[in-house]
Amino acid sequence: MERLPESVQNLRDQVALVTGASRGIGKAIALSLASEGAKVVVNYARSSEAADQIVSKIEAAGGSAIALQADVSQSEDVDTLISKTKEQLGRIDILVNNAGITRDTLLLRMKLEDWQAVINLNLTGVFLCTKAVSKLMLKQKSGRIINIASVAGLMGNPGQANYSAAKAGVIGFTKTIAKEMASRGVTVNAVAPGFIETDMTKEVKAEEILNYIPLGRYGKPEEIAGMVRFLAADPAAAYITGQVFNVDGGMVM
Ligand code: NAP
Repeated sequence: MERLPESVQNLRDQVALVTGASRGIGKAIALSLASEGAKVVVNYARSSEAADQIVSKIEAAGGSAIALQADVSQSEDVDTLISKTKEQLGRIDILVNNAGITRDTLLLRMKLEDWQAVINLNLTGVFLCTKAVSKLMLKQKSGRIINIASVAGLMGNPGQANYSAAKAGVIGFTKTIAKEMASRGVTVNAVAPGFIETDMTKEVKAEEILNYIPLGRYGKPEEIAGMVRFLAADPAAAYITGQVFNVDGGMVM
């Protein structure tokens, strides 16, 4: 992990909570924010070893991080996650709502539990974490909330009725909370990735998809992390709120 010299670190001593940071995009975001000097909470659901390895990597580069287990679709888990973060790191300046799952199938085959599992984590999880963290940010009169949506929430995707509904919901939620919190110095934005190389897209048939990506390739987790890192930066992104940024190789334009 590249760690910038302290003199140019943008997020020095800030505390960033990244949900679903044990793998994929969340992992890249955690490492990227840590390279800018942020103290990072690496949240995970099951992959405790992977989360510990990320913490070790950050510490080895001179940074600071802790791993905290929580199923962020569960209200009690979220409360514990936030109170442990406050206890151990004192504050939360940046919340990245990244944890997400898919349960893909066409509508007629979609079971209620496939619908509910995706909505519970990808939308209700964002509500629970944002609500809990917003109390601290409103008191501090500062904060950055960055929600990981998806191009599926903007353009739809066959087989992903649950997922696109949740991600479209995240976009509406982002805009509303941005309006509610703007006067208290908290910005709220969303990043909408296209197809990114992670465990989530391992099973997707690449050849068909590539026809829809003008840049002709999948994105890398680091390319989403770059946008998140920009949105967390002060003053670079201080005047941006309520926006959705597509990082998708040109899929949506
Ligand atoms: P991924 O590789 O499957 O990783 C998912 C992460 O979420 C893991 O760290 C996982 O933790 C965590 N997680 C799962 N259930 C959780 C729960 N109940 N509570 C807390 N954490 C939980 O996924 P990804 O591709 O990096 O996706 C990250 C985000 O980007 C998601 O919101 C996804 O919808 C969005 N996105 C991805 C793509 C893409 O092409 N990959 C495109 C658009 C949007 P464990 O390791 O402990 O299971």
